Amino acid sequence: MTDKNDSLQEKLRALEAVFLQKLPSKFDEIISALELFQHEPENKDALTVLHRHLHTMAGSAGTFGFAELGVQARVFESKVKPWLVITRPEQDELNAFASEVSKYFTLARGRLNTMASQEDDFVEQRPEVAHTDHHSSLIYLVDEDSEQQLAITTQLEHFGYEVVCIAQLKDLAVAVATRRPDVIVIELSFPEGKISGVDEIKKIEQLQRLRIPTIFVSKSSSFESRLIAVRAHGDGYFTKPLDVVAVTERIDNILQHGDNKGYRILIVDDDTVTSKFYGTILRDAGMNVRLLSDPTQILSVMTDFRPELLLLDIYMPVCSGVELSHLIRQDNSYVDVPIVFLSSEVDLDKQLEAVRAGADDFITKPVSPEYLISSLSTRAERYRSLRALIMRDGLTSLLNHTAIKEQLASEILQAGRNGSHLALAMIDLDYFKQVNDNYGHATGDQVLRTLARLLRQRLRRSDIVGRYGGEEFAIIFPDTTASTARKVLDQVRVAFAKIRQHSEDVEFSVTFSGGVADLAATTDADQLFDVADSAMYVSKQSGRNRITLA
Ligand code: GH3
Ligand code: MG
Ligand code: MG
Repeated sequence: MTDKNDSLQEKLRALEAVFLQKLPSKFDEIISALELFQHEPENKDALTVLHRHLHTMAGSAGTFGFAELGVQARVFESKVKPWLVITRPEQDELNAFASEVSKYFTLARGRLNTMASQEDDFVEQRPEVAHTDHHSSLIYLVDEDSEQQLAITTQLEHFGYEVVCIAQLKDLAVAVATRRPDVIVIELSFPEGKISGVDEIKKIEQLQRLRIPTIFVSKSSSFESRLIAVRAHGDGYFTKPLDVVAVTERIDNILQHGDNKGYRILIVDDDTVTSKFYGTILRDAGMNVRLLSDPTQILSVMTDFRPELLLLDIYMPVCSGVELSHLIRQDNSYVDVPIVFLSSEVDLDKQLEAVRAGADDFITKPVSPEYLISSLSTRAERYRSLRALIMRDGLTSLLNHTAIKEQLASEILQAGRNGSHLALAMIDLDYFKQVNDNYGHATGDQVLRTLARLLRQRLRRSDIVGRYGGEEFAIIFPDTTASTARKVLDQVRVAFAKIRQHSEDVEFSVTFSGGVADLAATTDADQLFDVADSAMYVSKQSGRNRITLA
């Protein structure tokens, strides 16, 4: 099994241990709710609490591998449920039920104690769950042509990748075993003895038992060579001389795909152990997960976190999941955000009620990780691409003119509330008309895409990048002064100027000029655009390829 899976198993087992530790108190909660109801059969609240505890137990026990307990809790739940809506039980019936339930949970508690004494070590020696940091992606570049290697390496490094060059095919397997790369870029026809790049990749695949995304490069563009690459499960095929921008685009694509693209998922569930469990699974699959146990905080979390999917529990104190989704749908900005219920509710009427409240899907606990991941990522993906159509520029996928203007207005408001800084930069490509004239419009488009991607890669996630006009871009830097923003942008400027752009067999480079302003100049969004734009024109007039502070 791979490291990655090992660490997921670790995390899930740690959560199971937490669940196990909390079980006795959950049993107690059920028993005391039951006793209260038994003594005060008029007390509707006591009944509601009892039902909620049984319901939660039915869903979570199955999730954590206590199938029998889950089933039993479900049986108890189904007994209690009609009392909620139809008639209260006769005292005799209630007493019989109470004694059955408390007998069961007392027994279960006893079994748990035996288990705990056997598993003490298991629970206590569990290592702290390590938080995996975001690291820059590692690329192995396997090619004996050292001149090519150097050229490609510098280019890839400009895009923020860590590149390790390997000149000899026989060194690749050791390198992979020592440190697993995210992508391998390899020459297809290594003239080293009899082995080819393809054979080596196959061998490594067998050794590692997990394939590493691989891009083949070759001088040949023949059908046969491409077919060999396909049969070796290549994720890309590029002919030399390499169009590095195109290769980078492919690498981005591969890496994003394996990443579930960081979908922002908000889980609302009062049962924190269960929500942590599912949260861990989704995080491990590359999603960006926020947990919320208090539904009353929903609106501020929606604004802050801007989830691309909500995963709701049905039964919660304060308000139900169904009410919560009505509440979310009342807000125009959230009419289309996907809402999925993850609940142990098996009652079809309840499920229908949820769907009427605007739910998109209903998943019943316990659910397999694979199913959960795939059904959520499909929905989040669709939502993201719909949003992208409305908000994003088709060529660069950056925010479009309208969207970036709206964003600036709202970011200025927020900065005002928090008393924080905010900088705005405007940039414009230099002599771009000549690029189009010399190399054609398609090449010009490619240059625009390259800059867009470089900006995204080089800036923080919180920085907001938009395409303001044809070859003009705007960047919002929250929490940043103009002079800091200028420094950051200047690094991007230097990196961009070094990128060699391709047009068929010709290579050339392009530069840009920029202007930066912050809230010290003005707190009016339109005026801030003007101030930054004027600073940009100063850069143009004083020789281009530079950034000016307003
Ligand atoms: P300066 O350094 O003064 O900014 O010179 P420039 O040539 O970049 O400026 P100018 O405003 O004269 O020309 C901008 C060019 O950008 C003209 C236009 O054809 C091109 N352009 C605008 N949008 C696009 C686009 O989406 N794709 C392509 N390929 N070119 C575009
Ligand atoms: Mg220009
Ligand atoms: Mg212009």
